Amino acid sequence: MAQVGISNTEVQNAYSCELAWGFGFHPDLNYQKRSFGGARERGIIGHAALETWYKGLRDGEAPDSAAQRALSEIQAERTKELKAGEFADFDRVDMLNWLYTVLTKYFEYYEGDAKHWEILEVEAFHAQEFDNEEDFYLPSRLDVTIYQKAGQFKGETSPLDHKFTYDFWQPYKLDLNSQFPLYILALRAARFAGKPKPIVKRVIVNQIRTRLKNPENAPPHELFKRSFKAYEKGFMDEVFNNHMKSAVRLAYLKRIPWEEAVSEIRAALGSMACQYCDFKDVCKATFEGRDTSEIIAATLKKNEYGYPPLEEIRRERAS
Ligand code: SF4
Repeated sequence: MAQVGISNTEVQNAYSCELAWGFGFHPDLNYQKRSFGGARERGIIGHAALETWYKGLRDGEAPDSAAQRALSEIQAERTKELKAGEFADFDRVDMLNWLYTVLTKYFEYYEGDAKHWEILEVEAFHAQEFDNEEDFYLPSRLDVTIYQKAGQFKGETSPLDHKFTYDFWQPYKLDLNSQFPLYILALRAARFAGKPKPIVKRVIVNQIRTRLKNPENAPPHELFKRSFKAYEKGFMDEVFNNHMKSAVRLAYLKRIPWEEAVSEIRAALGSMACQYCDFKDVCKATFEGRDTSEIIAATLKKNEYGYPPLEEIRRERAS
């Protein structure tokens, strides 16, 4: 029986609403919205540009050149949108202008990243497997993994996680976090060619603040902040145990056909989660007992941001 991957993201989704989790993560469905507006699209395009920049640095490209390639991706989106003439989405053009300005500043401000850090991996998958656990594993996709060549934490390996955020995070968001302890645990289990067993103590939360509408003249400290956050062992163990409890149920639901799973699933109808839910229409149709195929075809598509199978991650990490 193949092991089922249960990620932190899907556990978080299931905490909000198990039905929404099912629409997004059950293998028979695995849907996402056809298009995302505003903040989510900014995050997706921004992550892609940062991926280009850090892959360039990883491969020894000059920071200027990597920055130009990353910015040209945003420029290409902008040109495509403007070509639509009177049908162009000018809110989207504004978002792209904002991103172009802010990431231009980012690449200047953090030009020295490659001097202080060795970029080990960009957008890499990890799979944590557990002793005596044959049912599921924990997949993670880390934005960037760095080895600190210099500075206060010299010799440590850390995940660098990008967050496009309206405001810089309050301490509680760092303290009461499940994603980062699991990333730290994933990296502790990883090995990197030519390097000793990694020392992994902290995550670097790479915050890009979206609050300022006109960022042209903003000083870098109003736009960028990096939080270096370590966690106590006891806290990480409890986060891990908490994840395992949810993973048992979600692995079970993933193994049964959707028609059976949906009859067991709890929906958080009328909760705060509904306000931001991508699946409102298909949820309503499901509750009304209607055929959902037309709604799905019109508003959803198969999720492109999944995890490769465990065997593939194992093979990739072993090579
Ligand atoms: S609309 Fe509400 S109840 Fe329905 S799937 Fe979304 S979060 Fe769950």
